[in-house]
Amino acid sequence: MSTGSPARRPDPDGLDRWLVLVSVVERLSAAESLREVIQVVRDTARTLSGADGVTFVLRDEGFCHYVEEDAIGPLWKGKRFPLNACISGWCMLNGKTAVIPDIYVDPRIPHDAYRPTFVKSLVMAPVRTEHPIAAIGAYWSVCREFSDGEVAVLEGLARSTAAAIAAVQARDTLRNSEERLRLALEAGQLGAWDLNLATESFTASAASKAVFGRRVDEDFSFQDLVEATHPDDRRHLERAFEEAWEGYSDLNVEFRVLRTNGTIGWIHMRGRLIRDTDSAISRLAGVSFDSTARRQAQDRMERLQSELAHVGRLSELGQMGSSFAHELVQPLAAASNYLGAARRFLKPDNALPEKAFDMVTNAEAQITRTKQTIQQIRGLARKTEPVRTIEYLGPLIEETIEIARMGTKYRTIELQLAVDKDLPPVSVDKVQIQQVLLNLLRNAFEAMEDSEIQAVTVSAMKVDDGQMIEFRVNDSGPGLAPEIAADLFKPFHTTKSHGMGVGLSICRHIIEGHGGRIWVQPGSEAGATFCFTVPV
Ligand code: ADP
Repeated sequence: MSTGSPARRPDPDGLDRWLVLVSVVERLSAAESLREVIQVVRDTARTLSGADGVTFVLRDEGFCHYVEEDAIGPLWKGKRFPLNACISGWCMLNGKTAVIPDIYVDPRIPHDAYRPTFVKSLVMAPVRTEHPIAAIGAYWSVCREFSDGEVAVLEGLARSTAAAIAAVQARDTLRNSEERLRLALEAGQLGAWDLNLATESFTASAASKAVFGRRVDEDFSFQDLVEATHPDDRRHLERAFEEAWEGYSDLNVEFRVLRTNGTIGWIHMRGRLIRDTDSAISRLAGVSFDSTARRQAQDRMERLQSELAHVGRLSELGQMGSSFAHELVQPLAAASNYLGAARRFLKPDNALPEKAFDMVTNAEAQITRTKQTIQQIRGLARKTEPVRTIEYLGPLIEETIEIARMGTKYRTIELQLAVDKDLPPVSVDKVQIQQVLLNLLRNAFEAMEDSEIQAVTVSAMKVDDGQMIEFRVNDSGPGLAPEIAADLFKPFHTTKSHGMGVGLSICRHIIEGHGGRIWVQPGSEAGATFCFTVPV
C-alpha cells in the first residue's frame, strides 16, 4: 500500500512536462526581482528539459554573461564571451532557438570552449524573440535528436521567463516612480490625499494628516476635513470640492483650519479628477500643504505696501505743502475782504443791507471752498484701509486735477481733458486711484519744468469691448530715455534730487490690486504717455 502519491518522473514527450511548466510559470509570476527569476529558471530547467545541464545567459552590452548553471559538470558560470563567439550569442542576435544534435559538426559552436565540458548536444532558446535579453541553454552528455515537444517546452520556459522579467521591470518602474513621487512630496513638504467618489472614502498620507494636526494612526475622513476647517471657510471649501467633483475645474482652494492646539493656520489643497483605464471618473486626488507662512508673509507684504502707499501720499502732499498754504490763504483773504466790505455796508451812516448780504454770501462761498480743499487734502492724507466704492470717473479726474494744480507753480500749464461721455461707473478705491493720477500728473508737471510748451492731456476711454477703462496722461516734456523706461516701475528708481522713486511702484501696486495694468506708452513722439486700466 502506498503512503502517498509516488514521485512522478517527467515523461520526456508527454503531458508531464507541460504540467511542470505550468507550476514553473506560477513560480515565475511570483518572482520579485531578476535575481529570483534567474533562480527559478536555474532550479527548474533541468527537471523540465530532462537535460544533464542548464545555463542562464544574460545579454550584457556586446557580451553573453553566463550568470547561472545547474549541471553534472562545470560549464561556464561567471564567464563572458563576445556575442558573436558563442551559441547563446547567435540565439540572441537572431532571435531564434538553436537545436544542435552534435556540437562537433556545427560551425556555430566554439569547440575549444566545449572540449573541457561533458556537452555533446544542446538546445538554446532566446528569452524574447524581438530584442532578446537573455537565453536559456539545455545540454546533454550524448549526441541525440530532439523532438518538437522537447524544444517547445524549453521555448515555453523562455517565453514565461520573458514575461516574468517584464513584470519585474514594470514593478521596478512603478516602485521608482513611487519613490520619486515620495521624494518630490517630501521636498515640497506636500501631503497626498485621495477621495473616492463612489464610496466617499477619504485617504490622506501621514504628511497630509500632519498638516491638519492629526497623528499618522488617526482616521481622517472628508467630514473631519470639513470640521477642521474654519467655520467661515467651510462653504468655500465644500463648493471648491463640488466644482472639482463635477469636472468644472481642478481643485485649487486655500482655507483656514482650526488646529487642535487652538491656533489658526492656512492650508492650500490642489487636486484633479482621476479616470480609470475604462475612462470612468473614480477619484479626486491631489496634494495639500501648509500655506500659513506664505499667507502671513503675503499679509505682511500687503500691510507694508499699504504703509508705503500712505508714506508716498504724505511725501507727495508734503512736497505740495506751500501750494496748499497758498490755496487756503487766497480764499481766506478774499473772504476777509468780503466781510470787511459787509461791515462797511452795515454802518448806520452808510447802511446798504442788500450789498452787505451779497458780501457775506461771497465770503461764505470762499470759506466753503477752503473747507472743500481741506477735506480733499485730508482725504488723501488719512490712512484708511482700502475701500471700494462706485465712482464716476469724470468728477474723480477733475477733482484730482484740481488738487494737482494747487498753488501758482503749475497754474499756467495747459490741461486738456478727454473723458468719454458714456463711461460706466466703476468700483474702485477712490483715494488710491486719485493717488495714481496725482502721481502721474505731478511727474508730468515736473518733467515739463524746462519745456517751452507745457501741455498735459488726460484721457479716459473704454477699451477691450467695454470691459476695461483706460486712462492716459500725456505730457509735452522730454519723454523717457529707454534705459530709464525699463526700470521705471521698480521701487527707488529716481532721476530727481528730491525724489523718493517710489511713486510709480506704488501706482503699479495699486493698479494691479484693482485688476488692471499700468505701462508707459513706447515710442510716443512728444513727451511721455503713461497709461493704466481698471476693470469695469
Ligand atoms: P520720483 O518721482 O520720486 O522720482 P517715480 O516712481 O514717480 O518717483 O518716478 C520715477 C522716475 O521716472 C522719475 O525720477 C523720472 O525719471 C521718471 N519719470 C516719471 N514720469 C515721467 C515723465 N512724465 N516724463 C519723464 N520722466 C518721468
